[in-house]
Amino acid sequence: MKKVDCPLMDECVDDAICFDIHMVVEGCAPKFTAPKKAVQTPDFRKICMNCPNHRDD
Ligand code: SF4
Repeated sequence: MKKVDCPLMDECVDDAICFDIHMVVEGCAPKFTAPKKAVQTPDFRKICMNCPNHRDD
């Protein structure tokens, strides 16, 4: 599985985890569907939107 270096998690995470976080950031899924550590980070939306791994689809 593809791994991405996630600034919110401070580690490499599976692409699928990145997608889960992405869905929350886009407002398409509730917060509990993403790892707590990621969505508890202050400004997590801004960080994720500016991340080079962020997908636009
Ligand atoms: S797009 Fe968001 S969830 Fe994915 S690696 Fe970047 S910060 Fe993490």
